[in-house]
Amino acid sequence: MSKLVAGNWKMFGNKDMIYDIKKIDRHCNDTKCEVAICPPFQLISAANEQTKNIKIGAQNCHINTNGAHTGEVSAEMLTEVGAELIIVGHSERRQDNSETNDIVKLKTEAVHRAGATAIVCIGETLEERTAEQTLSVLQEQMLKSLPKKVTPVNTVVAYEPVWAIGTGLVPAADQIRAAHSFIRGFLASTYGAEAHDVKILYGGSVKDTNAKEIFSISNVNGALVGGASLKSTDFIEIIKAASNSM
Ligand code: PEP
Repeated sequence: MSKLVAGNWKMFGNKDMIYDIKKIDRHCNDTKCEVAICPPFQLISAANEQTKNIKIGAQNCHINTNGAHTGEVSAEMLTEVGAELIIVGHSERRQDNSETNDIVKLKTEAVHRAGATAIVCIGETLEERTAEQTLSVLQEQMLKSLPKKVTPVNTVVAYEPVWAIGTGLVPAADQIRAAHSFIRGFLASTYGAEAHDVKILYGGSVKDTNAKEIFSISNVNGALVGGASLKSTDFIEIIKAASNSM
């Protein structure tokens, strides 16, 4: 299956950075992998208007379509301005905004309702890994955060060990392989053949220097990239590594 490289800009980025998005888009004229950038909300519309080769996404949405929820944005509002993917359940939101698996599931359903693709993030903390609970944590997160209908079109799963996000720490290849193979097995047994092509991204300190090795691991179908997606030259190197690995 084709790989997906998705950039999560978090709460970084201003109007000037549309220039970087255009540069990445130009590079992707003939890339083999799929590419997406999820900038902060205020750039989604302009980014969408200025791109033709990559997808633009968002980093969060509300569970409802509209309502008296001051400061919130719905999945439908995001798709209206061009978001084709929406990240849900990022560990920063699970931690900073107390988002539970139940909320993540409602948000995933909201993304599906709006016709976009949900990038559902799961991953263990360092304490959980040390206590050898990684696979049980992933299982519980998938059981509770994924809705009844999961297809390769409506859902991407991102395995993001919390301890690897923004730290420069990356799990050993065997650890990534084991987690991705477990996720693939869960998807197959829960959703059957339809989920066979659901992409499983790795996320956590992916850089231009380690991307090639990460993309060579079985069941790694791409990457969710935070910090390195803010530097267009680094992000382009990661895109090249993904394309070359296919
Ligand atoms: C992320 O925020 O999803 C992420 C993977 O961040 P970083 O690449 O900076 O570790």
